[in-house]
Amino acid sequence: MKLHVDREACQVTGVCTGLAPEVLDLDEQGELVVLDRTPPPHLLDDVRQAVRGCPMRALWITED
Ligand code: SF4
Repeated sequence: MKLHVDREACQVTGVCTGLAPEVLDLDEQGELVVLDRTPPPHLLDDVRQAVRGCPMRALWITED
């Protein structure tokens, strides 16, 4: 599984970083950081919640 971010759509709300803090974070400049683009199986539920929770629909996953 790969996690993707549409950086033009992202409004840096931080919702996803609360739902999947081991995969998504905000840096000191307030930019979204993807810590792991291919998250391990035990984090997939968190990542899926982050994708569903993004108010801008800026996150999506592919199964490749
Ligand atoms: S929840 Fe969506 S809009 Fe908010 S920081 Fe994450 S990707 Fe960006």
